[in-house]
Amino acid sequence: MVEIVLKKGKEKAALQRHPWVFSGALEKVKGKPANGEVVKVFAFDHEFLAYGYYNNNSRVAVRLLEWDETQIIDRTWYESRLKQAIASRQFILSEQTNTCRLVFSEADFLPGLIVDKYADFLSLQILSSGIESVKNDIVDILKAQLKPKGIFDKSDATARTHEGLPIENGLLWGENPPEFLEVKENGIAYNINIAEGQKSGFYCDQRDNRKILASYTKGKKVLDCFSYSGGFSLNSLANDAEAVTSVDSSALAVETLQQNVALNKFDPKKVTTIQSDVNKQLRAFKEAGELFDVIVLDPPKYAPSRSALDRAARAYKDLNRLGMLLLEKGGLLATFSCSGAVDIETFKQIIAWAALDAGKEVQIIKQFCQPEDHPVRISFSEGEYLKGLLLRVL
Ligand code: SAH
Repeated sequence: MVEIVLKKGKEKAALQRHPWVFSGALEKVKGKPANGEVVKVFAFDHEFLAYGYYNNNSRVAVRLLEWDETQIIDRTWYESRLKQAIASRQFILSEQTNTCRLVFSEADFLPGLIVDKYADFLSLQILSSGIESVKNDIVDILKAQLKPKGIFDKSDATARTHEGLPIENGLLWGENPPEFLEVKENGIAYNINIAEGQKSGFYCDQRDNRKILASYTKGKKVLDCFSYSGGFSLNSLANDAEAVTSVDSSALAVETLQQNVALNKFDPKKVTTIQSDVNKQLRAFKEAGELFDVIVLDPPKYAPSRSALDRAARAYKDLNRLGMLLLEKGGLLATFSCSGAVDIETFKQIIAWAALDAGKEVQIIKQFCQPEDHPVRISFSEGEYLKGLLLRVL
């Protein structure tokens, strides 16, 4: 096995079990490892640190996966990692919920592998050359452990490009999922489109937050911004919201949401869907003097990296300022950020600026986070990406 030695003083993060070794930290690569090959990483003084996937195309030159030197990274190792990850999600699955994340990359010691379960199908994202090189084994193990009808590859384009990997989107094994596959989350049915939908097809990371938010919506007029397949809208309808307006810029998202309203036999007269840019639509509501009791703001990732933080902060501030101005007095704003680079304290600061700009007094009444199938390793705070606040706007 190829050995890699780090520069003097660069071993601290690995010793603290952080899974990324940046290319600038490498002193010596003893050999010519292929991209994706498992290498042994040592400190400058030759102390063993960890095993990891090597990649000379990426800023993260080694993705660490195992800190115990006595382990052998073979098929049995992958079997036991996958088994452990899958077993830890079983309590989420029930008659009411047949979709969740089974494997969450670094958090499950499988850097670059995401596995989502959608009823009897699995959707994979393979985001590191290390996982790519053992893809066939992983598919075999998942087949044996879960007996799915089909396994689909839905790898995100940008992350693969960073690793120097070609873009993939297609069937890996078994049956193709139907164009609209029905899944259930907290008793609500969703038609999801794995092949064309965003990310791996459905945002299961908002499962708990949708349910929590819905508990405040009975008899209320709700505005669900960035609604996608309708998670917040449908949960609000299930809890007898008076009316729901859902806004998303994607035609497919709006179409899927409408299908999902029908699928759950909710009253379509209660639902207004608007295909539009959220910022534009919020301004239009403001001009029309339209107000809501509850507003959800769940935008896409505004800060893909720390360098984009300033711009993202301004975008979050503007969005939230507008949201606050569209609430009835004492109305609720559920506001989220899924940017790993924006931590909860920074997010609170941005919301404080938005409140000042809006001229509103705001109380935090609850904090939202990512659910149990998206665990955060204590040594890898980058994995904590989803955060939100439930605000009462006075
Ligand atoms: N709340 C959703 C997930 C939101 S994902 C749920 O519970 O499932 C973000 C969504 O924002 C995507 O559906 C995307 O189409 C939409 N989007 C991105 N930029 C937008 C914009 N400027 N205006 C409106 N929608 C936008």
